[in-house]
Formats: sequence, structure tokens, C-alpha cells
Amino acid sequence: MAGMKKLLLLGLAVLSSGTAALEGARDKSDSPNFVVIFCDDLGYGDLGCFGHPTIKTPQLDRMAREGQKWTNFYVAASVCTPSRAGLLTGRLPIRSGMCSDMRRVLFPDSKGGLPKSEITIARALKKAGYDTAAVGKWHLGHLPPYLPTSHGFDTYFGIPYSNDMDKVAEGPNREIAFDPKSEYWDVPLMRDKAIVERPAKQETITKRYTEEAEKFIAAHRRKDAAPFFLYLAHSMPHIPLFRSKRFVGKSARGYYGDVIQEIDWSVGRLLRALREGGLAEKTLVVFTSDNGPWLIYDTHGGSAGLLREGKGSTWEGGMREPTVFWWPGKLKKGVVTGMGSTLDLFPTFLALAGAEMPGDRTYDGGDLSPALFGTGASPRREMFFYRGQRVYAARVGEYKAHFITKPAYGKGQIVEHDPPVLYHLGEDPSEKYDIAEKNPEVIETIRKIVARHEAGVEPVEDQLAR
Ligand code: MG
Repeated sequence: MAGMKKLLLLGLAVLSSGTAALEGARDKSDSPNFVVIFCDDLGYGDLGCFGHPTIKTPQLDRMAREGQKWTNFYVAASVCTPSRAGLLTGRLPIRSGMCSDMRRVLFPDSKGGLPKSEITIARALKKAGYDTAAVGKWHLGHLPPYLPTSHGFDTYFGIPYSNDMDKVAEGPNREIAFDPKSEYWDVPLMRDKAIVERPAKQETITKRYTEEAEKFIAAHRRKDAAPFFLYLAHSMPHIPLFRSKRFVGKSARGYYGDVIQEIDWSVGRLLRALREGGLAEKTLVVFTSDNGPWLIYDTHGGSAGLLREGKGSTWEGGMREPTVFWWPGKLKKGVVTGMGSTLDLFPTFLALAGAEMPGDRTYDGGDLSPALFGTGASPRREMFFYRGQRVYAARVGEYKAHFITKPAYGKGQIVEHDPPVLYHLGEDPSEKYDIAEKNPEVIETIRKIVARHEAGVEPVEDQLAR
């Protein structure tokens, strides 16, 4: 009897290890690579393919022609830290404690960061056998427990927060930013968890991020190389602006244009590295920005094109970003007008990698595959526009209701609207003509959707107030 039991147990063990082997047997070559190129404070109107008349972006224009241009693509917040938390976790920053009514982003004296309990795209893909690298701006906590290498990235090279922090020069940013020198800001450049340069020489930062990313791609040319996730988060075009010597004075748009044209060059280098490495057909590349243009910096800030306002605001210009997807031979080429968000990248990448979504938490996005491959529409129907910890506005279909408004920066007052201000973004993308009065039923629907969303948000520790 005992022997029988032992045999049975042994059989079960064989059976379960057999299942494990089968699960692990998904051919690595089926798993696409993912590259996210994330700019800082690039506006909706700043690329040639999004209508800018004087900034030349031939590489991004080509990327859009070969892939998909998304015209209704949103980020999770209108400033750096919460926007990045949203992209990497697939969850609105209110769920991870990465947005706050006390401080809008993390600072060099902050003690908090993205909690260890959060699962980043890198950590989820790592579990599915991916190699992972973060290059560029992090801004999810610069202390060791919060750095990229503590959040699923094998390696990190970059500036861990905004390039205008640790200011040592005299005078307000508003003045010194117009003729910037690297030594005005004592920002660190890090490799993994160590500071390797301080102040970071920002004149060459875009170039060096690009070289680092190219090296990572080149290391994955081998047929038997693991699939990879590369997160390249440029420090540019966040103020203070810097560009390499060869881009100085090149753009008709002036200093800001030079900076964007270097980013465009960088995109071209990465796509070329993928093509030459035989990786283009195996790699989904997404280009977008963390929030809208920093309009208070005059010509050193970008443009949101026809959208209202910019960085820091819950108007469209703060959170709708110029976005391009690229995957030659796979994506249905064209312009996608359906809604999408950086919050959708987590579920999209996991689905494409054949990995399961963690079942123990709420996600705020969906798999964009139908829109990417032309088999259907984007699953996104709603978008919540948070400022700090409050929902200021919500978009449902083509309608967007603003319950609260406040100027992006400065001492302007909060204004609560009841009824909310309502716009139809199809007919009025610039949010100029309030149609609330004629559409009480639309407002009722949006109110219900917001109430349902808010009821599903659990309170967590505010990481930015620490
Ligand atoms: Mg930003």
C-alpha cells in the first residue's frame, strides 16, 4: 500500500514537471522584443509627422509611415513621476502611491519611490525569460530600493531624476535655462546603482543614451539570444535643453528644434540597429512622451499643436502625446484614431510575449493587439485625467468632462465645475466650446463611470510626500 502511494506520488511529480516543461517550452523565438522610446516633455505638435512646420523629423516620419501613428494616445499623468509609474506598472499612479497632492514629482530629497510590491513591465517580462535594460531618465526613486535594477531591469544607465534638479548655479531656472551649462545642475549619471559622473555632462546625454541602447540591441543579434525589453527614456527635451555639437544651430525651430532633431537622429540609429541586426520583424517599438510641453519656458518649451495647454495640466495638451508604433511586416500600417494609453503597454506586451497578467491586482489598460494588427478596435473607451490624487477630468468615447480645472503652474486657483465643462474631442479637439448644457445625459454617464472607477481605488501610502 505504501509502495503504491509512493508510485502514485512519483507519477504526480512526473506529471507536474512535464507540465512545467511544456509551459517553458514556448519557443523563445516566438517572443517579440519590445523597445519603448520615451521622451520627456515632448509636445503633441513637435514632430514633422504630427504637423510641425519647422522641426524636421525624417526618421520619426519614416517610422510613422512604416508603422502606425496614434492620434489619441494618452499618458497616465501630466508630469514625470506619475506618468512613468503608470507606463511601467500598467496601473494608474493612484494605485501605487506615485502621485500626490503635496509634491507633484519625486525630488533629490525624496525618501520614497515605486514600491517593491509593484510589478513593472521589466519584472513581468524577466519572468517570461526576457533580458531587460533601462537607459535614461528614471524618476521613480533614486534610492537603492527603487532604482531600475531593483525593479526588474538587468542594467541601468542614466540620470535618475529630472535634469534640472540639484541646481547649484545662482538664479531661477527660468533665467539660467535659456543659456544652460551642465555644471549649473549637479545631477548624477548612474550605471546600475553607482554614480559614474557628476555633474552629468548633458551636452552629450542624448548621444550617450543612444550608444548605450545600440550596444544592448547589438548584444541581442545572436539567433539564440533571449528576447529583450529596452526602455529608453530620454532626458530631453526637458528643460534645461542640451544637444551634441553636430546638432547646434541645425534647426529652423532654434535650440528646441536642434534637441528634437537629435532625438530623431537617435530613433533612426535604433531602428537601423534593429534592421541591420535582423531584429526589425521581431521587435515592437513604441515612441511617445511622458507628458506635454513645458509651455512656461517660451521657445525652449515645445508645442501641443492644436491641443489646449501643456505639461502639468489635465487639458489635452498635458496628456495626449505624439505616438508611433513600429513593427515591420506585423502592424497594419496607417493612422489609428482610437484611444490608447501608456497604461495599455503592460497588458499588450505581456499578451504578445505569451505571459499571463498578474491576477492579484487591478490594471487600468487593455491589450492593444486588435488595433495594432488591424483585426479590430482599440479596447480603450475611457481615460481618467488625474492631477495629484484627484480625477480632474474624464474622457468617455469622444466626450471629455472637466470636473475640476486649475492652471498648469503658478498660483492659479482650483475651480470646481458643476455641471462639469464638456467638450466633444472629435469636433473640438482644442477644447474650446462647452456643450454641457445640451448634453446632461452624457454628463450623467461620465459621472457614473468616474464614480465606479473611484470606488475601485484602494488608499495606499503617498510615496511622493515621504
Ligand atoms: Mg516630463
